[in-house]
Parts: sequence; structure tokens; C-alpha cells
Amino acid sequence: MRFAWCVRYSAVLNIVPEWMGQDRVGSETLSGMTAVDKAGLTPAMRQYFAAKEQHPDCLMFCRIGDFYELFYEDAILVARELQLTLTSRDREKKQPMCGVPYHAAEVYLQRLLRKGYRIAMCEQIEDPKTAKGVVRREVTRVLTPGTAIDPSLGAEQSNYLASVAVKGTGAAACVGLGLLDLSTGEFRATEFTGAGAWAGFVDEVGRIRPVELLYANGLLGGGLLPSARDAAAKDGAPDADAEKEAGGLDTIRTKTAMEEWVFTPDYAMPLLRNHLRVHSLDGMGMAGHEAAAVAAGALLHYLQKTKQGALEHVDGVRYYERSTCLELDAVSVRNLELIEPLFSGESAQTTLFYTLDACCTPMGKRLLRSTLLRPSNALGEIEARLEAVGEAAADVRRREELRRSMDGVLDLERLLGRIALDSAGPREAMALASTLGCLPGVLAAVKAFSAPRWRELGGSADPLEDLHELIVETIAAEPPVSLADGGVIRAGVDTELDELRELSRSGRQALVAIEERERQRTGIGSLKVRFNNVFGYYLEVTKANAKAVPADYERKQTLVNAERFTTPELKEYEAKILTAQERSGEIERRLFGELRRQLLQSAGRMRETARRVAEIDLLACFAHMAALHGWVRPEVEESGTLEFVQARHPVVERRLEESGGGRFVPNSVSLDADAGPAVMLITGPNMGGKSTYLRQAALLVVMAQCGCFVPAERMRLGLVDRIYTRIGASDNVARGRSTFMVEMTETAAILNTATNRSLVLLDEMGRGTATYDGLSLAWATVEHLHDRIGARTLFATHYHELTLLADQLARLKNLRVTVKETPNGIVFLHTVESGPASKSYGIEVARLAGLPTAVIGRAREVLKLHERAETQQVREAAVAHEPKLQMTMFTPLSQRIVDRLSELDVDEMTPREALNLLAELQRELKG
Ligand code: ADP
Ligand code: MG
Repeated sequence: MRFAWCVRYSAVLNIVPEWMGQDRVGSETLSGMTAVDKAGLTPAMRQYFAAKEQHPDCLMFCRIGDFYELFYEDAILVARELQLTLTSRDREKKQPMCGVPYHAAEVYLQRLLRKGYRIAMCEQIEDPKTAKGVVRREVTRVLTPGTAIDPSLGAEQSNYLASVAVKGTGAAACVGLGLLDLSTGEFRATEFTGAGAWAGFVDEVGRIRPVELLYANGLLGGGLLPSARDAAAKDGAPDADAEKEAGGLDTIRTKTAMEEWVFTPDYAMPLLRNHLRVHSLDGMGMAGHEAAAVAAGALLHYLQKTKQGALEHVDGVRYYERSTCLELDAVSVRNLELIEPLFSGESAQTTLFYTLDACCTPMGKRLLRSTLLRPSNALGEIEARLEAVGEAAADVRRREELRRSMDGVLDLERLLGRIALDSAGPREAMALASTLGCLPGVLAAVKAFSAPRWRELGGSADPLEDLHELIVETIAAEPPVSLADGGVIRAGVDTELDELRELSRSGRQALVAIEERERQRTGIGSLKVRFNNVFGYYLEVTKANAKAVPADYERKQTLVNAERFTTPELKEYEAKILTAQERSGEIERRLFGELRRQLLQSAGRMRETARRVAEIDLLACFAHMAALHGWVRPEVEESGTLEFVQARHPVVERRLEESGGGRFVPNSVSLDADAGPAVMLITGPNMGGKSTYLRQAALLVVMAQCGCFVPAERMRLGLVDRIYTRIGASDNVARGRSTFMVEMTETAAILNTATNRSLVLLDEMGRGTATYDGLSLAWATVEHLHDRIGARTLFATHYHELTLLADQLARLKNLRVTVKETPNGIVFLHTVESGPASKSYGIEVARLAGLPTAVIGRAREVLKLHERAETQQVREAAVAHEPKLQMTMFTPLSQRIVDRLSELDVDEMTPREALNLLAELQRELKG
């Protein structure tokens, strides 16, 4: 099989002697080759080496005939990664090679890209039929994870290529981040300044999860900031930034270093201006944001370097400010399972995205995803959305009409992207047409609504009818997959094309007539006129009938069972048909190219309409969910309040419904950063519903600020600027780092940056260390949040002792999750009510889990002793308002005294008895 391939390339390349007998290349790997070796190469291999030299960091896919071939180290690596057979071009097996058929290359390429490799496509740039000598080959495009368009990419996912540009150092540092999704043309940039610039950058990257990051040589080393990591290693304890950097940038598969000069304003900014054809970048919000502009320019440089085409669809860049949105750090996005489940491998059904997603279009899904990551913080915008959602939620008929009108809307942005990158065929063009055809219906359905946001979205929207017509009038109704198959352009578009098609049609009819006539003339009933690519048209006669062939037949080829002939007449028709086909192929390519250019001239219009459709879809989705589940409109205001009445956790509720696992128990909360209690301390048994209660609060805030209705009877919300979540260490072990360290790093971030407009959720803080360390830290943290920050805070804890803080802190309130104690043990009621939990239920829960009765009994005894001593110590600390907890658990002697005191019934004692007891206890103490 492999041998057969070799022979075939040899035929194409005309290099049989050198290729098969090549023995001058003695070394196995490229790097081991000497100049002399290279000089002795065949022309084709010389092309290969020239290409490889220009793209040393890429796997070189070299088009040879019907295959892409890889050689040397590339071949060894790819054969291993893709499980292909490794062969060699020479008998000594010193030149490893492997290959994939070109028509099936896509899947192999995607697999390599997903593994993070870069690939250079070295194509034949001449027609092999007309080329003199060896066909010229050149690298026509470089595929990288961040630039390749993966058709299997989830519709709701974006495929970001990112770049980082740094200006200044230390506290004056400014870090620019550029982001581009080549598949849709979305292009934006932002900046981070001050001492927390790196941390901010890493956090944003951790949230957006680009697949590839471009950086200047020397900026990052080995995938991490070397300076931060070295410092961390020296000190023994990594500082917060180093930890965060490690986490955030690790998620990026491919990091690409480029020359430093690319990241200079003198180079990158003019490049960006020229591409966007603007005199100044100020109009895009870039004024005063040089680092952002440079990062954006560097992205364009990379796209040009890797030859991604003319990029007409990348027609604008936008500066975005993170503070206009509710900020969610990467940790919270993870903890709250907004987009992805906390543990990879878990089903995506645990995510808020999954629960909310009823979008009809891929653009809507992507917008939902990005909105969840950046909910709004602007009251006007949120109100406008809520009003639009409310109107559609209340009108089932119009809402359904709108949603149905979007049924046929495909991925407008990605289709446009494919057309711009010239990877779209006739079927994509038709897909675009059918999507464009739906738009007037969508816009008409929007116009049925009157809320201002609906009117803004629908009113001035461009229905793009001219583009729809253009495609439909140019492309045949059911075009073939590939342009090369012919028949792509509709009849009537081009008179010459129509004539040529008629010509080849009549030619083929003539061939049918010839076949019929020749059968009669020769008396061979099985005689056939046939065609193949190598021999063209011929008459085929079986061996048995060969004797009956007339003398004017000219032999063309002999097979085992048949003979093939031609005649002058056949040759004439063949020439006619083939030239007509060739010429019409040229015309079709030209017309398709023209169509593409015309569409791209309107790329900006299409992107604008796509953006509107995305938001229409999103609002319709919110309205649909609100109506379906009876959600209510949150009352949003500028204040410090957060009030839920009978709220439910949307994800847990849905999962309970679907699994038939019972009803979700609604709960209420009322917090106020300005007036009322701002800190809620939630105690109660494990499995009681504390974590669920906390997450529910955050999710409802996120939903409300996205403009979505919420599962509650009522919700009043003063705008939140940031949400912080910290989930106890033991819930987070999967991350494989010192969990207590991680927990403290994250807590530090909260205490250093939260404001009195933030929402802070702390769940089981301090679990990852010794009991008293943890308790003391939790204690001090609550005090700090209460006294200094004043953020709305929900603090769930297993440290029952903390409930005593309520005596000291005026704006702290105790809440407990309730349980019912029955003779058979406890039952979780999942309701949250005022007051501290009456006790810890750890032992009860352990009993439910099936611990032996003896162990449970003994645990109860030990607990009793511990609790008494602890309560006393903690009470003392509370009085001092500074926890000074003893490391010793209790001393048996004083414990005995405490026991006796606490068992006394003072009302029943006479003064005499009391005095006696006191004296006795004192004696005992003095020993
Ligand atoms: P905790 O943090 O107190 O240990 P969780 O919040 O993890 O408890 O909840 C434990 C289980 O109880 C979860 O699996 C959840 O499905 C269920 N649960 C929690 N809150 C409710 C509720 N309000 N209604 C119904 N089930 C709930
Ligand atoms: Mg919990």
C-alpha cells in the first residue's frame, strides 16, 4: 500500500531515480543534516527544507499529489500523535515520512491543533498539469490553535487568540490585553494598570480562557512569569501574584513568543490603523490606552505573518472597560459554576449557562455566555433589558412568534468569518443566504414589541435583503459541496457559462448516441462509452468481444478483462466537452470570487445585524425562561440592599425537578450594607444547605444584573460591583495545590479589594488548617469584613463558636439551616431561619453515614468535654473583641470545676451552701 503511494507521487513529481534511490541523506533528523547533504537533495525536498527553514516551529504539511506528507522529525511526531504508520522514502529507512490523504486532512489537522501544535500548510501553487518540472510549493497558511477555525468548535464557545503588551514597570506598569476571535471577527482590547496590573491581567485571561497567547520574547518564561516564580521559590512561600499567575496562564495551551519589536507602539499602532483604515484609534476608545492598542496591533501582525487572508471581517477594534460590568474574578466564575462544572468530568448540567440557555441561535448562546461572565453594572442598561424581558414574558403569542422566527438562523458571524478567510464553499454561501432570508421575519417579530430596548434593537436594524438576493440570484438552489464540482452558479447569471454548459450537455448526449450507434454497427451489446481522468473518453469492449472490433478503432489500453479504444470522432467530442468544462470551471470560480468580494464589502453591516440578533435572542431566551418557570422581575436600584423573598437556586431546583428528587425549599434573606445587618453568619449541619444558600444569592445577583428574571417571590437588589466567593479548602482539593495556601491567597484578595458595594461569600473558611488557626482566621476575617469593609457578606461556617460574634458585632446576624430531630436521627429541612444553630450536628451526620454505634457514642462523650471548655474560651475572646484562643483544648481540672458550676441550680441553693461550694472549689484549685 505505502509502496503504491510512493510510486504514485513519483509519477507526479517525476523524481523516481533520486527519490527511490536517495542515499546521500544519511542522517535521520533534520537538525543532524549538513550543508552538503542538503545540496544533494531533489528539487522537491529542497522546497521542503526552504519552507521548513522559514517555519521551524511548525509541523510542515507538504502537499504531494493527493496527500499531505510529513518528513523527518515531524513525521515521527505526527505518526505518534495521530497513530499513523511511519514509513520511509528510502530503502535504508533513514528518511521517515508519513502522510494523510488531502481530502480527509481536516480531522487530522484539528486533532493536532487541539493538542497545541502549529502547522504550516505547504501547498502546490502551480497546476501540476501545466507546471514545467517540479511543481512549485510554498507555505500558504499557518494554522495555530488561536487562528484555525475549528468547525467542531461548540457554537456557544469563542475561540480567542490573545496578546499581551507591557508598558513600564513596577507600580507604573500597564498591561495591555488584546483579544480576537478570528471565527467571528470579534476584536477588542483592554488594559490593567498599577501594582495589581499583572494579577488583573491574569485574572481576566483566566476568565476568558483564550486558546493561544502572543507575547514578546523574554516576557514569559516556560509558560510562567519567571520573575514571580523565582521570587516565590526563594521565599519558600509563593506570593499571591505568583500563585495567581500560575493558575491563570496555565490554562492557555499555546503560548507564542514573537520578536520584541512587534510590541512597540511605532510598529504595532500604525499597523492597526492601516488595517482598520482609520487615521486615529481614538474613535475606538483607544485614546490613552497605548498598551491595549499595541496588544491589538500585535495580533494583526501575527495574523499577517501566518497568512490568514485579507481579514475583511476584522473591521474594528473596541476598547472595553472592565469596571462597567459586575466583576467576577476567575475563582468565582469557577466556584459558582457559571459556565463550566467545578470538576471537569462532571456534567455541564450543573452550570448556570446550561440552566439558562434557551437561545435559538449560536450568536445568542455566545452572548449569553459572555454576559454571564460580565453582567452589567449600569442601572439604565439593566432596567432596559428587564423591561424588554418583562414585555415578552407576558405575551406568549408574540414571544413564540419571535423565537420561531429565529429557527432557521445559523451562525451568521462564523459563516462570515469563513467567507472572509476563503474557507467557505457554495454550501456555506447558501447557508448564509438562508440565514439572511430569515432576518426580515425576525425583525418584523421584534417590531411587535414596544419596550424601548426592543425598538432600539429592531427599529433601525438592517435586514440585509440585498445580500440575500445577491446570493440567491448567483448560486444554484442546491449547489455541490465543492466549487470544483461545477454547477455552482445559477443558470442565467452568465451567458457564456450557460452556452458552455449547453455545449457539454449536447456533447454528452452525442456520446450516448455514439454508444448506441457503435453497438449496432459492431453488434457488441455490452460496448460502453466511458470516462476517466487519466484516459479521458474511450470505448470499452470486453476481451471476449475484442475480435468484433472494427479496424477504425484505435487501441488505448488493455486491461485483464477488457480493451479500451478511441476513434477520431470520440476524440473530437472529448476535446469539445473537456474544454467547455474547463472554461466553465474558470467562469464559476471567477463569479464565486466576485460574490465573495461583494459580501465582504458588507461585512460590517452583517456583523452589526448579527450583534442585534444575538441580543434579541438573549432577551427572548430570558423571557421564555421567566414565563416557563414563573420567575419575577428583580427590583434593581443604587443602594446597599440585597433582599430575597422565597428565592430558589435555579440549577439545584431544576435538577431536583428533573430527577424527581423532591421540591426545592425556598429561602429568604435581607442584607443591607448601609443600614441593616450586612453580615450573615450561617451555621448548621453539614448537608443542611448552607453552600446552596450562598451560591443561590450570588447566582440571583448575576442573573438580575444580566437583565434576567429571577426565581423568587421578590428580589430587591442594590447594584453589586464585584462578587467574591471563597469555597472551603476541602471542597477544592482537585486543584492539587496547597489548598490552605490557595484559600488564604483568595481570602487576601477579597480583604484587599472588596468594597462596601461588593457581595462576599465565604464558605467553610479555615477548614484546611488546624482547628484553632482556622477559627481564629475566620473570626478575624468576619470582624474585618464587618468593621472595615462593610460588604454584604454571607459566611457559612462549621465553626459553631463564631455565632457568639453576634453579641459583639452590631451588623452581624446569625442564621441557621434547620433540621428536625426525630427518633431515627435528623432530617434536613433546608430552611434558613434566624438564630445560631443550637449545636453542631457533625456526629449526627456521621451516624447517617453509617459509622459504628460504639464510635458515635464515644464521640458524643468526647465532644461534650471539648465543647464546655471551648465555649468558655471563645466567650472570653468575644468579650475582648480580639480572639485569643488557647491552643490547649481544656485542662481536666478546671474543666471539672466548670462542670460543677454549670450543673448547679443556683435558685435552689442557700447562701450557706453557695459559700461552702466556693470554698471547696478554691481548695481544689489551689490543690
Ligand atoms: P452544606 O453546605 O450545608 O453542607 P449543601 O448546600 O451542600 O449543604 O446542600 C446539601 C444538599 O442539600 C445538596 O445536595 C442540595 O441538593 C440539597 N439542598 C440544599 N438546599 C436545598 C433546598 N433549599 N431545598 C432542597 N434541597 C436543598
Ligand atoms: Mg457546604
